[in-house]
Amino acid sequence: MQEILFLLLPLAFYSGWQAARKRYKERQEKRKQISVHFVRGINYLLSEQPDKALDVFLNYPEIDEYTADTFLLLGNLFRNRGEVTRALRVHQNLVARPDLSKTQRTSAMLALGEDFFSAGMLDRAESVFSELLKDDPKSSDACEPLRNIYEQLHEWDKAIEISQCAQQRGKTDHSRLIAHYYCELATQELQKNNLFRVEETIKQAAKVHPGSSRIQVLRGDLAFARGQRKEALATYQKAILQDTRLMGMLFSQLINNFPEKDELESLYLFTQQAFAKTQDVRLFAYLLQLARKLGKLTDMHTQVEEHLLKGKPTLNTLAYSTEVLSSLWKDQGACEITQIQTALQRLAANQPEFQCSHCGYKMHDYLWRCPACHQWDTVSNV
Ligand SMILES: [Zn+2]
Repeated sequence: MQEILFLLLPLAFYSGWQAARKRYKERQEKRKQISVHFVRGINYLLSEQPDKALDVFLNYPEIDEYTADTFLLLGNLFRNRGEVTRALRVHQNLVARPDLSKTQRTSAMLALGEDFFSAGMLDRAESVFSELLKDDPKSSDACEPLRNIYEQLHEWDKAIEISQCAQQRGKTDHSRLIAHYYCELATQELQKNNLFRVEETIKQAAKVHPGSSRIQVLRGDLAFARGQRKEALATYQKAILQDTRLMGMLFSQLINNFPEKDELESLYLFTQQAFAKTQDVRLFAYLLQLARKLGKLTDMHTQVEEHLLKGKPTLNTLAYSTEVLSSLWKDQGACEITQIQTALQRLAANQPEFQCSHCGYKMHDYLWRCPACHQWDTVSNV
């Protein structure tokens, strides 16, 4: 019996070899078909027939690691070109494939979420990213897009939560953003006159980012809402000293909310001191406005002269300075017009002379090609 088996061994070996050969041939044939498929798709893409290319790729028989990456890139390419519907079709098709690895599925889901986001379908994008986060709670990939979505939807509570998660998982410091979200919440509560909630939310914001000047402004708003006018004014002033840009945002509010003479005097004195300290020309324009409101324009004469001759005049400061000089003319029958002339010349010398009509970029020298948008022959005089 053993001898018969021994004799059958070459036969078994031969049939095994034949079967393996057949399988190899079939695989080769399949690969050949896939390559033909792939090349046809690329050809359609190159000849600007994206829909035909899309049909070829969507009916692609099998996905391996290389084709999955290509599909992903193809979808991203469509999205970057603004063709979001096509991008969605590619990425949806990819996500539905059963033969993807975990990493490929994550990348495809992220891309799909981005497509929904670009299409303005924020609820769909949110559910895709939330599912990703649920599948892999340790990953921070979906946190940033989710934060963007909640920011757009003004869902500040959720934005805070996801930013805290992202901060714990990744290396990005979101303290400044989280403080802004708390400030948005505090502003909403202030509008509803929930002053206790405002105070609590400000405290939370201050815990995250104590140096924020926006928190100071909100403290001023809260004090004002509570009728603590002196404290409110002092807090706003503290905020402006911390960040002089805030004067522009707060000026009308300050003038309207603190119209009493002593309050305006206090503001004038503060602005005078802040300008002396910072030499910020933006403050000088507000100082002149306050002087006008208090009937002190002529007191500003020396400072205006100095500003016109040596300072950094802006259109705003020039306009208010002219008012000071004209009030001098009314009072004393004399004023020096050449000072204005000099200041205007200095201001004009600092202004860019040319501008691109395509993107609005301003420049000092004429250029044939705009350095910002790279268009030719679009530059002309402002
Ligand atoms: Zn341009």
